[in-house]
Amino acid sequence: MFSKTKILSLLTLLLLFSPQLSLQTQPTICIIGAGMAGSSLAHFLRRYSPPTTPHPPHIHIFERNGVVGGRMGTVTISNHTFEAGASILHPKNYHAVNFTKLLNLKIKQPSSSDESDSFGIWDGEQFVFKTLSVDSKVPFVQKIVSFANSVYIFMRYGWSLLKMQSFVDSAVGRFLKYYESLERRPVFESVDEMLKWAGLYNLTTRSLREEVADVGLTRLLTQELVTVITRINYGQSIDISGLAGAVSLAGSGGGLWAVEGGNWQMAAGLINRSDVALHLHEEIESISYLGGYYELNSTKGNSYTCEVTAVATPLDELNLLFSPPILIPERKLQHTHATFVRGVLNPVYFGLDDVSKIPDLVGTIEDPDLPFTSISVLKRHGEKDFSYKIFSRKPMADLLLDDIFSARRETIRIDWGAYPHYTAPEAFAPFILDGQHLYYVNAFENAASTMETSAVAAENIARLIVSRFFGSESLSSSNLKSFSFDGEELHVDL
Ligand SMILES: Cc1cc2nc3c(=O)[nH]c(=O)nc-3n(C[C@H](O)[C@H](O)[C@H](O)COP(=O)(O)OP(=O)(O)OC[C@H]3O[C@@H](n4cnc5c(N)ncnc54)[C@H](O)[C@@H]3O)c2cc1C
Repeated sequence: MFSKTKILSLLTLLLLFSPQLSLQTQPTICIIGAGMAGSSLAHFLRRYSPPTTPHPPHIHIFERNGVVGGRMGTVTISNHTFEAGASILHPKNYHAVNFTKLLNLKIKQPSSSDESDSFGIWDGEQFVFKTLSVDSKVPFVQKIVSFANSVYIFMRYGWSLLKMQSFVDSAVGRFLKYYESLERRPVFESVDEMLKWAGLYNLTTRSLREEVADVGLTRLLTQELVTVITRINYGQSIDISGLAGAVSLAGSGGGLWAVEGGNWQMAAGLINRSDVALHLHEEIESISYLGGYYELNSTKGNSYTCEVTAVATPLDELNLLFSPPILIPERKLQHTHATFVRGVLNPVYFGLDDVSKIPDLVGTIEDPDLPFTSISVLKRHGEKDFSYKIFSRKPMADLLLDDIFSARRETIRIDWGAYPHYTAPEAFAPFILDGQHLYYVNAFENAASTMETSAVAAENIARLIVSRFFGSESLSSSNLKSFSFDGEELHVDL
């Protein structure tokens, strides 16, 4: 027979270990990763947590690096700071637009000189296409050059360009459904469901090569412009999925922008205003489900108890131990080697007699013998003194760089586990890894990898946590601030 005191202590134990009952006290939500996904998740959790909850959750964010931002990192060459990873945002990246306004960050508009930035397609022996460039700071001259280049591009690729644009517009239009109001937009339990609802799923089942052939793009446009853009934005060929391809093409249009001083400030700002305990230099090495809560262990030897855990980083190259083990489809990351050089390119390497004839952005066609995917001028310090960014699939050896450059004052190399290696049809990992409260934001990265898609996925995971952990009523509460892309909460104009 149980005594009264024994029954009471059993009840206390039950209260401690049942997540729903533990709502009597403050639940703890642990987020692994302080990039765009982790920081947006904290932001949306605070925004969507039921206002009626007497005990708002504790939020912990763990970051193995000493800085936040993840792949929104910067690099400093000779005292000048440049984006080393994610650099450009689309004008319709509405979460990023909104974060920037909310955090009072300054937007870096594409400078007027960009209009005269020259562009060329290198095939290893010659520039198969090169826009005109005139070294003039006079806006009128720049406008004329820009117009002449549009005509020139049109003459080479013809009406196919419009077909490409409408392919991109259609994908972007569908993506905009993710900004519809909460009333109209379900909470998605899987990536497949989320993509099907927006009409984007089919684009992940076929390659970009198949998609653009279906919309009638010419071989020339596909093998040159489309390939060049895909190589620059995802380091991969047109065999990536149609959706990743459309996102990549959208990232080459007009109105692109960035945050002045670095895109990482979005993550920093969101974390700062979300009442979060941030643990820098703390890598999580194991997550164990112990019935009603998770125990997280870090490389610092610390142990944390969390009712909810969200992984906000790709799991593919991590040594993160799960107990019990989780099952996700195998996914390889595409490594992009970003090499930053202060110096000057060697015109002879490009068969030219003067460095001024090398385009500001050199893209490349798909050829396994080409040692780089792109070279772009980041800053012109003087007539023969530039800062460059080179993207390549393999590391750029010194000997090779000595061939490509006639002078090199400084070289910095970064090896990014950059984005998924896309293959169609894509197989998606679950958002809910264990059927309990272990979530995976970056399951969505197989659809497309961008700062904005991380925020879109994080917003859905925040809603998923709020509805599954706090109870579904919370989300439909009229107290909840509505999120709509025409609502006042979201600023769409840049
Ligand atoms: C070279 C390059 C160029 C790109 N260009 C663009 C672009 O122009 N525009 C664009 O929108 N996107 C671009 N992207 C993609 C974009 O950077 C990513 O899609 C986005 O930043 C991903 O954010 P995230 O928070 O999901 O992941 P991440 O930024 O990778 O953040 C994950 C964080 O988790 C941390 N972490 C990992 N494991 C642990 C652990 N066990 N414990 C604690 N912390 C851990 C990591 O250190 C990291 O900070 C580019 C990416 C690269 C690499």
